[in-house]
Amino acid sequence: MSLIVQKFGGTSVANAEKIRAAARRAIRAQQEGNQVVVVVSAMGKQTDALVDLAKELCDDPPAREMDMLLSTGEQVSVALMAMAIHALGQRAVSLTGAQIGIRTDSSHTRARIKSISTDRLKKLLDEGNIIIAAGFQGIDEDFNITTLGRGGSDTTAVALAAVLSADVCEIYTDVDGVFTTDPRVVAEARKLDRVSHDEMLELASLGAGVMHSRSIEFGKKFNVPIHVRNSGSFGDEPGTIIGTHAESTDRAVSGAALTKSEARITILGVPDQPGMTYSFFSKLAAENVAVDMIVQNVGAGGQADLSFTVLEADLSKSLAAVNKAASEMGVAGVTHDESVAKVSIVGLGMATQTGVADRMFRALAEDGINIQAITTSDIKVSALVSREQAVAALRAVHSEFELDRPPRDRVAFGERIAAGGKVDAVDIVARLQRMEDLTIENISLDQTQAQVTLFNVPDQPGIAASIFEAIAAEEILVDMIVQSTGHNELADVSFTVPRSDLAHSLEVVETLAGQLGGEITHVPTVDILTVKGIGIRSHTGVGLRMFRALSEAGINVEMINTSEVRVNVVVDSTKGRAALLALQKAFEDVLE
Ligand code: ADP
Ligand code: ASP
Ligand code: MG
Repeated sequence: MSLIVQKFGGTSVANAEKIRAAARRAIRAQQEGNQVVVVVSAMGKQTDALVDLAKELCDDPPAREMDMLLSTGEQVSVALMAMAIHALGQRAVSLTGAQIGIRTDSSHTRARIKSISTDRLKKLLDEGNIIIAAGFQGIDEDFNITTLGRGGSDTTAVALAAVLSADVCEIYTDVDGVFTTDPRVVAEARKLDRVSHDEMLELASLGAGVMHSRSIEFGKKFNVPIHVRNSGSFGDEPGTIIGTHAESTDRAVSGAALTKSEARITILGVPDQPGMTYSFFSKLAAENVAVDMIVQNVGAGGQADLSFTVLEADLSKSLAAVNKAASEMGVAGVTHDESVAKVSIVGLGMATQTGVADRMFRALAEDGINIQAITTSDIKVSALVSREQAVAALRAVHSEFELDRPPRDRVAFGERIAAGGKVDAVDIVARLQRMEDLTIENISLDQTQAQVTLFNVPDQPGIAASIFEAIAAEEILVDMIVQSTGHNELADVSFTVPRSDLAHSLEVVETLAGQLGGEITHVPTVDILTVKGIGIRSHTGVGLRMFRALSEAGINVEMINTSEVRVNVVVDSTKGRAALLALQKAFEDVLE
């Protein structure tokens, strides 16, 4: 018998009428011959209201009590949903996370699922019940209530779909599906028919709040087809399928996203020697700070600048930790900017096309938007801009890549869910032992690249655009790009290109340096190491583990790029092999 998981977000259960409509939808799915599990969020803005109430009583509420409080929101809605189904003449049983047996670790307010027991669920389903499961919550070993982080009901839903081998996990929300960017910010945003797991992982972690990013990790790991749809539509209009395929193969960019609540810290003049990066990040990890966009490039005279972003709320404790470490290590200085935003473009097609990043940089420059830092991965480019210009930046890139227009070779929605292809049961059970563990797909060494750095160029709009336009005009495929700023109104831009294109790239850059100012260095052979997997960013320890392993092996990190699904580091080409071995060893327990 087929099984469907339906998740209803806060706005979709905001009042009695909406709960009744959701109940009807669940009943309809059951009458169509499916077993049905419904996952619900707290009603409307109830979770926000509870957070505000807690803050009225306590500036820094204990995380355990926060979870106790927030979990009540979902407990209200499961009971009401079960009652609504009962009133419509069908059988439903509501269950809290604890009653389902959703076991998590003990990190309150951001717990990760360890296991889910299915016996009770299967029995209730076989008896003809619709199960109403509370989203966002679980219990730890000691029966403490935990929550999975804001937006976590999506993760409950996809995790339940995975353990029950559901045919589809439907996410009902207040928009028609996943859009090219937040439709409430950019009115021209277009609904995507489909989006690939990797793209959605990047988009979600880069600010597309429509899905909790960890739910996509589950979707990818366990091959659960996810269908995001509008709970307000009466018919069966298709939403967006998040699955293995992207919407189009010829489009370089599928979507754009914005993260507004970030702050930047730059450490200037870090001695360019092994262990430095690790020293800083281990101090931040000790303060429980999650570091986001990490940008490091080799500067002049054996010194490097290291920039990264943290959540604005973590800025003061991060600065305290960094300043302390900086004074011990004798760096040139620390600067910060508390009002930045990150705008990103994401697309699978980017990995193989030239001239994507430069278009983004030019679009920003044309609107007078200065880029403070750049990082890339094979499927995304992120630029840090001032927060005042954030929305303008998002609009500029959305329109530059014509995201409002459907791609020419669109894969039609009609292929529907079957395209997901379920994994066999034995495989799932084996992998479920580790549920939300970090999984490293592979660690690779790329020995094909050379590195070019243009340093001390003026920090003003249009610099990155000019550089990468000139490179793209020569059809040179740039792999990593790293830009940082933060001192004397000058910026450093580093990038890697195939070794065979080095001479050509240098000619281009030399002409530019003549016009823009700035000095050039290059390294004819660099080695790039990539750790790729699921949960890379939400497992904050990954970067740290990498930097520690390299530091212990005496290997200097010259350039860093991070994204949701991978971390790239550049090392000296004589050290690539040793670095690969060190990383393989460091991640041996989680390598697939
Ligand atoms: P729910 O309560 O149903 O979980 P959320 O508020 O968490 O709903 O997510 C839906 C919201 O996500 C939309 O109202 C929209 O403003 C926002 N959003 C951000 N980025 C996107 C995007 N790329 N596509 C669709 N919605 C997005
Ligand atoms: N109610 C929780 C929140 O508002 C979980 C969710 O809605 O997904 O974050
Ligand atoms: Mg949500």
